[in-house]
Amino acid sequence: MAVLDIRDVTKSFGALNAVERFNLTVRDGELVCLLGPSGSGKSTLLRMIGGFETPTSGSIAIDGEDVTRTPPERRPTGMVFQSHALWTHMNVFRNLAFGLKLRRLPREEIRRRVEAALDQVGLAGYGERMTHQLSGGQQQRVALARSLVLEPKILLLDEPFASLDQHLRERLREEVRELQQRLGITTLFVTHGQDEALALADRIVVMRDGRTEQIGPPDDVYRKPETPFVAGFIGSMN
Ligand code: ADP
Ligand code: MG
Repeated sequence: MAVLDIRDVTKSFGALNAVERFNLTVRDGELVCLLGPSGSGKSTLLRMIGGFETPTSGSIAIDGEDVTRTPPERRPTGMVFQSHALWTHMNVFRNLAFGLKLRRLPREEIRRRVEAALDQVGLAGYGERMTHQLSGGQQQRVALARSLVLEPKILLLDEPFASLDQHLRERLREEVRELQQRLGITTLFVTHGQDEALALADRIVVMRDGRTEQIGPPDDVYRKPETPFVAGFIGSMN
């Protein structure tokens, strides 16, 4: 059974269809990249999967359960946003513990989970730091840990490293891939960078104007682009 099943989803803002009659099924443990230029509907789609937007029509199911109208905190998803990810008035530990306190987990369980998540992203011992004392890369690691600490079924990453320099971005995406495989966590990774999608994905969904232009393994998308748009987009430099 598919972990994620998106059926015929449309999201309209006034006259604009940001996402239009979109279909996708994702298998357990798969890493799918949503790749497309700015404005192609990637973030809107991810926000609907995370519950931050409601589809105008169509349905979204996770593990066979319809979540189309379920609020974010009751979905088995964790989302990392492109920017403004962390609460700057809280230290790292509190940033991670916040969602667990809302779920009324026992204090010891919270501590155990926070420490495990910080360890997973290479930031063991950073709990007492304030977020402004961290580098950009470390801040995005904390944002990733804050999602992982919820032990989500599906991890949603919206251009998580776009604000970082290329060297750091490449390093972090390798870390994400390694972590994703180790945990076996189903992941949707949004990017406008074809190199990032080609390096990371089990499958790539190339998006254009809210629709799927092509879907397939990186090799197919790279070697056998089905439309001039895909050929042009994959062929262009970042
Ligand atoms: P991407 O993430 O691929 O850059 P988005 O999903 O952010 O694309 O946006 C897709 C389209 O929907 C764009 O034309 C954008 O301007 C529009 N859009 C996104 N969110 C809103 C909103 N809240 N209100 C109006 N238009 C929006
Ligand atoms: Mg976006």
